[in-house]
Amino acid sequence: MGLFDWIKISSEALKQVEDKMYQQKNDFIEVYQRNIALEKEIAQRTEELRKANQTLLTLEHVWDMMNSSRPLSSVLETIVSSLHGEFGYLYSCILQKQLDTQGVFYAFKTYLQNTFSNELEKCIPNNLFETRFNINEGSYLYDVLKNKEIKYFNNLREVLTQILPFEVSEEKINEFKSKNPAKSLIVLPIVSKEFTGLLMVFSPREDTKDSELNFLNLFARQIELAITIANLFETVKKQAVTDPLTELFNRRFYEDALSREAVRALRLNQPFTLISLDLDKLKHINDTLGHSAGDAAIKAVAKVINKNSRSVDVPSRVGGEEFTIILPGVDSQGGLIAAERIRSSLENEYVEGVGHITASIGVATFIEMTTDVDELVEIADKAMYFAKQNGRNQVKLAEVQDSVSWQDIAIDAFVQILDQHKIPFGRKTADELIKKLQSKQETNNGILAKELLFDVVDTISKTYTPYYESGTTKQKIELAYAIAKRFELSKNDMDKLKLAMLLYDIGNVLIPNDVLSKKTPLTKEEKEVITKHPIIGAQEILKPISHVSSIIPIIVHHHENWDGSGYPDKRKGDDIPLISQIILIVDSYYAMISDRPYRKAYSKEEAIAEIESLAGKKYSEELVREFKNAIKEIEA
Ligand code: GH3
Ligand code: MG
Repeated sequence: MGLFDWIKISSEALKQVEDKMYQQKNDFIEVYQRNIALEKEIAQRTEELRKANQTLLTLEHVWDMMNSSRPLSSVLETIVSSLHGEFGYLYSCILQKQLDTQGVFYAFKTYLQNTFSNELEKCIPNNLFETRFNINEGSYLYDVLKNKEIKYFNNLREVLTQILPFEVSEEKINEFKSKNPAKSLIVLPIVSKEFTGLLMVFSPREDTKDSELNFLNLFARQIELAITIANLFETVKKQAVTDPLTELFNRRFYEDALSREAVRALRLNQPFTLISLDLDKLKHINDTLGHSAGDAAIKAVAKVINKNSRSVDVPSRVGGEEFTIILPGVDSQGGLIAAERIRSSLENEYVEGVGHITASIGVATFIEMTTDVDELVEIADKAMYFAKQNGRNQVKLAEVQDSVSWQDIAIDAFVQILDQHKIPFGRKTADELIKKLQSKQETNNGILAKELLFDVVDTISKTYTPYYESGTTKQKIELAYAIAKRFELSKNDMDKLKLAMLLYDIGNVLIPNDVLSKKTPLTKEEKEVITKHPIIGAQEILKPISHVSSIIPIIVHHHENWDGSGYPDKRKGDDIPLISQIILIVDSYYAMISDRPYRKAYSKEEAIAEIESLAGKKYSEELVREFKNAIKEIEA
């Protein structure tokens, strides 16, 4: 080989080397640039996600969760599933540390299925979501928890073998690996006050970037926050409906449950029973053994009630030593048996530091005895008091009241009023209302009858007061009822109040419309017309109607003032029927908070302040006080 050939060969070799170097350099540059681009993208996405994460997770998920009160596992599922697809992640899940009689284990807290989890599941003999994973001291994942640090592993097989409670063959793992692009596992600790677990993220890449880990770290902190808030929410929710001493439901929950149950009972035409229970001689226990003995007695009652309740029952502590139990679907005979079981098991209970205690119990059944919830409560209480007066430590079944219900009286009254053209209504409208009223009366459904009556009064009120707002009648009656309860009115008086609340302004239909909707101040004659309406209403319209005569005096005096400055008789103080006083304050309040042709509406606060300023003048001091309490109760 000559020199020339040698040079040629050498230069060709050199060129090849050069080409190779050049190629490698290009490859390197490309990889380098790709890395930079990836790094940049990751950084940018991290920043975006950090913001999205914060707003989305803390606001949307957490907010959703708080409002929908979804259980924690479902909240975590939503959060974790939002990781799928980010950075190309294949799968993510949360394992939660748990404890049962067999000891500590880790289990899936999120139940998300995709192709990854399906493939993984093929490697193991059990369902992935039911598997008890072990994270023992010395294992990789244990360190994550112990040191509270993020870690990533690219030997999936080793990690899986460590945590699975059973042997997995090499072939199976290899098969999984061949079918699945997962190259590494990133694990983060999730630790909050009541939760210990791990966030596990399967990645298709061998290694991770710092920015990616930062993002995941942020994500894990959001999960902790969501868990804390969910737990907090659970606690708050529970506290809001339970009584702290006994952990039975509180009064508020009981009242809601009672209305709900009544609606359901009527819809399904199924009874429910209300048990009303009062601890006997608690005052004596307090006085002789001390308040904490009294508390122990109350707790013992709660325990007995709880033990004797089904999961659908609603046992509540509604007052200091008063308890109720709602028994859905139970008739009076079943209710009596349940009550007797509670009575006897309480009698047999020995209360540490107190001895034996007893209770008096009343039992009333919805639909069977009444379709009016207020009446149900009342007859259950009456039965309970009867049991007390009869010697305590006994169960008494409520008695059905045979008097005509106030709803029926009211329906009859309106039918007659409408039928006799006492209201300037078109014949057709009147006939339609009459038909509706009579059909409701036949269904014997107290709640529907009440709703219809409120509607009818709204409709009639609108004929003479165009600015009357629908729904006001119901609100007014609720307020009147809440005030009356504070004065402990008898059932008879309560019924009179309800009836009078529907009828007290009926006289207005006889006042010329132009006077009622006048925008300028009234003349002396016009005022005269207005002040006469209660009397006109009461006498001309209601007198001939059977059953309502007893409320005529109430209506006649519903514009008398406490200090004697009202009309028509300038009655003073206790000479004014209490029911009339209640109607006056409710009517004034609603007049103030609604627009009038000659003035804008007051705010609720302004109206309450105005009423307060008239205490001792227009209204009695006590009435104003109870009015304010009732408003507070309704608002709550
Ligand atoms: P009766 O058999 O007629 O029901 O007699 P009683 O003493 O149980 O009834 P009374 O209504 O005269 O007294 C109820 C007592 O219950 C008075 C009140 O101080 C007490 N009480 C109410 N709530 C609690 C509470 O939470 N703890 C304790 N220790 N006592 C309470
Ligand atoms: Mg008592």
